[in-house]
Amino acid sequence: MPHTSTHPTPLDILGQVFGYSDFRGPQQAIVEHVVAGGDALVLMPTGGGKSLCYQIPAIARQNAGHGVTVVISPLIALMHDQVGALHEAGVSAAFLNSTQTQEESSALEKQLLRNELTLLYAAPERINTPRMKGLLGSLHERGLLSLFAIDEAHCVSQWGHDFRPEYRSLSLLHETFPDVPRIALTATADALTRQDMVERLKLEDAREFVSSFDRPNIRYTIVEKTDATRQLLRFIESEHAGEAGIVYCQSRKRVEEVAGMLEDAGLNAMAYHAGLDSALRQQRQDRFLREEGMVMVATIAFGMGIDKPDVRFVAHLDMPKNIEGYYQETGRAGRDGLPANAWMTYGLQDVVNQRRMIDTSEAASEEFKQVMRGKLDALLSLAEDTRCRRVALLHYFGEGSQPCGNCDNCLSPPKVWDATEAARKMLSCIYRVQQASGISFGAGHLMDILRGKATEKVLQHSHDKLSTFGIGVDLTEVQWRGVLRQLIAKGMVRVDPDAFNTLQLLPDARQVLKGEVSVHLREQAAGGAGERRKKSTKTSVKGMAEASLNAGALERLARLKAWRAEVAREHNLPAFVIFHDATLRAIAERAPQTLTDLEGISGIGSKKLQAYGNEVLRVCQTT
Ligand code: ADP
Ligand code: ZN
Repeated sequence: MPHTSTHPTPLDILGQVFGYSDFRGPQQAIVEHVVAGGDALVLMPTGGGKSLCYQIPAIARQNAGHGVTVVISPLIALMHDQVGALHEAGVSAAFLNSTQTQEESSALEKQLLRNELTLLYAAPERINTPRMKGLLGSLHERGLLSLFAIDEAHCVSQWGHDFRPEYRSLSLLHETFPDVPRIALTATADALTRQDMVERLKLEDAREFVSSFDRPNIRYTIVEKTDATRQLLRFIESEHAGEAGIVYCQSRKRVEEVAGMLEDAGLNAMAYHAGLDSALRQQRQDRFLREEGMVMVATIAFGMGIDKPDVRFVAHLDMPKNIEGYYQETGRAGRDGLPANAWMTYGLQDVVNQRRMIDTSEAASEEFKQVMRGKLDALLSLAEDTRCRRVALLHYFGEGSQPCGNCDNCLSPPKVWDATEAARKMLSCIYRVQQASGISFGAGHLMDILRGKATEKVLQHSHDKLSTFGIGVDLTEVQWRGVLRQLIAKGMVRVDPDAFNTLQLLPDARQVLKGEVSVHLREQAAGGAGERRKKSTKTSVKGMAEASLNAGALERLARLKAWRAEVAREHNLPAFVIFHDATLRAIAERAPQTLTDLEGISGIGSKKLQAYGNEVLRVCQTT
């Protein structure tokens, strides 16, 4: 190749290599800062476009003679696909991991020393092996160590939700190679984690780039749990038939049950959790990425780094631990920017379970537990909130916004009732029972007393003689559960995991008992809030996602998809790595006759145009 003195600009690279015409949000500023050798800390929501923030600098700096960018990523299971996607775009990249043989590793090392690679992916535990340190040292001596990119950087912090101890040693990189620039990226943005990350990775002098955390195409819905699996099935059938989605459950057992239930209902569903052996996990992950319309039922062991762009929904059947987790998990929906749903059911039992997990975790310090309780409370108030979900979510990440018009509370504002009196009844009932019997009781029993039910247990303890017996006949059991959930969420009542989940009053209960604070609650619709909305009042997300293509274009699209599936199989890559749906749709619409017609379609870079252009024309023209 003739030597040219001017290298392509970042914008040129964006267009030529990735086929995109514009940078998104702060991408350009980040890329320019890093290309110039600055350190950066990038906080961007899932799906915001973090990869390009280090891939484009890697290419630009390689062009300028700086050598390889080392990407540290915890996602060994995904490295093959990440590198495959770069190859498809014509970028020379490789990964180092424990599945490789000695010969493969040494071949790779030689390639690196010959300066033939632009990006090298490696797991954090790999970075600190003597061999890797030696290799990095040799590259550095030759001036071929261009940049360190630390992906999923929140893994360094125990306050994040994916703590990886191996990440701690990454500070050594900076100590050993202080002149090599670094870019750390994460989608986790709460202040505590952010600060910890900066300290642990010694990024005090890095420039921080904080994007808006809004994901406007995601519709947030949180419903009261009545019969979770039936609610889920109804949700999937009415909004997402045949589409890809992720269902999160808390336990392995529950994951298996729910996956089985969905399969029985005729859905293409699979289970995924840490109890399955790693080969099976990898196989299922590959199927989820490669097949269309799969539903993955999983524990949170699944999903980090899953960049499948067309996940149309993320459902939580159980409540996550905190808002960061919730936001990260729901963020896996709709990376392609098309409408998607984040849907959660939650109930009293979730609150109890999460509290118990915090209270009984033996490894954790009291300080840690306190932080975790605070984070759980924030999620609870989100769930009980009657205002715009997005406003509440963004507020949590320190961002102001206006009601979004695309969440359950905006689309059908919930009614609120004054539950102050009910809360007082509940609290005084807990108090009287404990006073009278000297021991505490669980939620079911207390509600029986309030609702005046003379059950065997009530009679046995003479609780029908209490002044609070039957004072709550005016409310349903569902309403009482709502009241109790609030009281637990507000830290007025505690569920004691060491004493059969009995209820105990906490000091804050006094405020309500004395009438100093009032309690307002969402009104519970019969059959579960928000799940039986009339069709006419709400456009389904599915309806919005269907592009208005004419018959000819639809036919071309079907042929293009079949062709893409074949190419993906041959290359052993997910279909979206070849072309995104949106790209195929744009091609189908344009009905291209010549290669020039394909230029400028988003997602077609020069390598893909060269590799697939003629094929695409042929597929479009067959009649
Ligand atoms: P993140 O790592 O932040 O979750 P990705 O890097 O996977 O997000 O990007 C999400 C999606 O957005 C990808 O499909 C990517 O190709 C696309 N994307 C990123 N930047 C741009 C851009 N400037 N223009 C168009 N699409 C983009
Ligand atoms: Zn809203």
